[in-house]
Amino acid sequence: MEQTKKKIVIGSGKGGVGKSMLTAGLSYLFSQENKIVALDCDVDAPNLAIWLNEAGNWAEEIPVATSFKPVIDRKKCNNCGLCAQKCPFGALKMKEGKLTFNRFLCEGCGLCEAICPQKAITLKKVKNGLIKIKKTQYGFPLITGKLLPGETGSGKVVSEIEKVAEQQEYQLMVIDSSPGTGCPVIAAMRMADYAVLVTEPTPSGVADLERILEVVNHFNVPWSLVINKYDINPAMTKTIEENFGLDKIIGRISYDQAIFKAVARFQPIMETELKAKEEIKEIFNKLKQYAQTT
Ligand code: SF4
Ligand code: SF4
Repeated sequence: MEQTKKKIVIGSGKGGVGKSMLTAGLSYLFSQENKIVALDCDVDAPNLAIWLNEAGNWAEEIPVATSFKPVIDRKKCNNCGLCAQKCPFGALKMKEGKLTFNRFLCEGCGLCEAICPQKAITLKKVKNGLIKIKKTQYGFPLITGKLLPGETGSGKVVSEIEKVAEQQEYQLMVIDSSPGTGCPVIAAMRMADYAVLVTEPTPSGVADLERILEVVNHFNVPWSLVINKYDINPAMTKTIEENFGLDKIIGRISYDQAIFKAVARFQPIMETELKAKEEIKEIFNKLKQYAQTT
């Protein structure tokens, strides 16, 4: 029978709600029963490798060049200032009659190249990311990518991670998304067959959950919800359950400072005897139906 490949994205409206911890635990548990590949698509702050104690000894590193920056031909430029007037991000400016360029403000939109009357600007591809690959101690491949400091194009780096991951043999892709609703999140949710959203019982946790749900619903991705640190604010946990639907909640994880002590020792949660380990197992058991791959 032909195997169906599935992609589960673990996302959150805000950072620091336990998304990578949950992804690490689920990757480990799914790998016991399925051929999986784990992806860290949180390209602004990738840390899935840390939660798996896999931060070193990468087998392969692949540079990514998906962003563009203008190169100005000073011999052709007559410093007319038009591009500086029109650059939507303030990357081009006139200073003492001379055109200046700040690459850190440039989004590579290409407007300056298109409008320069002297054809003095050409957009060139620049290296903006790095993808790293390894086989983990648990036997499944881990692919992680990062956006280089000051560079743009985080969504495109996520798409490159996906392309590299597609070269692996897998039944299930487990994807740690960036938090929020920006380009890398859109790039991750675009490929999702199913989304597990993680939140915490705080006002910002709830507000940001509502925002990411707009992205998830835009792509018609079926989803469920995990409340991390549910016991720090039982009243708000109850509100989340009522507002988002009890049937949507597939798990709750307790607040436990020992989790941070474990990760500081590079000890994956699934190798501890912490309560969170059992709570993640319960979430996994509820998710299993989405991983049925044949
Ligand atoms: S529009 Fe062209 S010629 Fe004018 S300042 Fe910009 S690069 Fe120079
Ligand atoms: S590519 Fe776009 S953002 Fe960059 S300098 Fe040109 S107009 Fe500005």
